[in-house]
Amino acid sequence: MKWNNIVGQDSAKTYLKSIIRQGRVPHALLFSGPEGTGQLPLALALASTLQCESPVNEEACGVCPSCIKSFKYNHPDVNFVFPVAVLGQERKSITHFMKDFKEQLLEKPYMSFEDWAYKIGIENKHANINAADIRSIKQTLSLKRHEGRSKVMIIWLPEYLGTEGNILLKLIEEPEDNTHLLLVTEKKEAILPTILSRCQSVDTFLLSDDVISEAVMQQTGCSREAAKEAAWLSEGRFNVALQKVNSAEEKDSSGFLDWLRMCYKANPEDLTKWADDFHNMSYESKKHFLSYGLHFLQQCLKAHFLPTDRWRVSEEEKKSMKSLVKIMRPDTIEKAHHLFNDNFVFLERYANAKLIMMSSSLKMHHWLRSEA
Ligand SMILES: [Zn+2]
Repeated sequence: MKWNNIVGQDSAKTYLKSIIRQGRVPHALLFSGPEGTGQLPLALALASTLQCESPVNEEACGVCPSCIKSFKYNHPDVNFVFPVAVLGQERKSITHFMKDFKEQLLEKPYMSFEDWAYKIGIENKHANINAADIRSIKQTLSLKRHEGRSKVMIIWLPEYLGTEGNILLKLIEEPEDNTHLLLVTEKKEAILPTILSRCQSVDTFLLSDDVISEAVMQQTGCSREAAKEAAWLSEGRFNVALQKVNSAEEKDSSGFLDWLRMCYKANPEDLTKWADDFHNMSYESKKHFLSYGLHFLQQCLKAHFLPTDRWRVSEEEKKSMKSLVKIMRPDTIEKAHHLFNDNFVFLERYANAKLIMMSSSLKMHHWLRSEA
């Protein structure tokens, strides 16, 4: 990863380059900010630069043997720790998933935890980083450097450490020579204060629509119009903008809007068939439907108070929103939003998807009709 491949976050880049220039990269750094804003890419770029044999202006050269390995995430002195879960009968070690993790870094350096969980098939399982994982970090860091200029350990999502955070604290407090721990988080508040106070913070922020749309155009080759819409919908998160451009967002919206229309009519046969189909969808598609519903309802709530040009929705959605806000008061939209939130939790607890959606459809019908 090169600095130039990172979207925006200029102040973080300037800071990181300055500490590299001064040879003052701290032992422990914490990259934190909202999901999809570039914490992980920044840590990756720092790691490559630290290993490069002849960096130019605090930028990895990209051609030396170290860079060749770093850019494939195969440098022996850059190691990774990340949350995993039970797969099959047992909880596999991080090493078991390393190949997948590196593939995902190449493919989606802006990945979210959901992307990762989906990639390795642990979607609805409780993921963590456990004591054995941390002990193996300790062991790796105490080994002699292979060939690099320093040893780097990237700990992605340390919030998944839970009570094992204390073991990490020990590692931070007793640094090995020439080692750097790069912690990358989306939930700073979930990290032990004792760890936070010992790390130098590098913060990332939600990105502007202009910065996102330029980058989306460059990376995907999509039209300016599509990039602008994706940026607008992403609300500052680059990973979401890429998803909006790449995925069949149209299908999301039409699926949800069809469901709303069905709830309005409430033909029992249609509703039952729809709930059956929902039941048979993959776990990921179910979650996708619910998260789209949450996004749409949230926008509907805003639509009550904001002028149409501030609605973060596509033209097709805008039409449906206009009719929906006419018949649903803000407090009812809020109720529907709560319902979708609850459905998310029920789904994660393996509740029967058909029953969840049948009951949601009837509630929605009641809300749509009682105010129409
Ligand atoms: Zn190099």
